[in-house]
Amino acid sequence: MRMGNLDRRTAPAQTSCVVCGSSDARTLATTTLEDGARVTVCGSHKIAHRRAERMARSVDELRILLCDRRVANG
Ligand SMILES: [Zn+2]
Repeated sequence: MRMGNLDRRTAPAQTSCVVCGSSDARTLATTTLEDGARVTVCGSHKIAHRRAERMARSVDELRILLCDRRVANG
């Protein structure tokens, strides 16, 4: 109990979708990369990743995989 860690082990450090940057907490979820790393995504990108033909190996690949032409860049 001496450690000052916040008791938030289940909450990801990131608070916005790594793909589209959405920071609406109600829609945020996590998805798992091929190496087991968890990343924060919004609900629609979680589904999109699940439907993707393969798992992304990195956040960059996740972005490419789920690239949505309607989403403005940066
Ligand atoms: Zn998103």
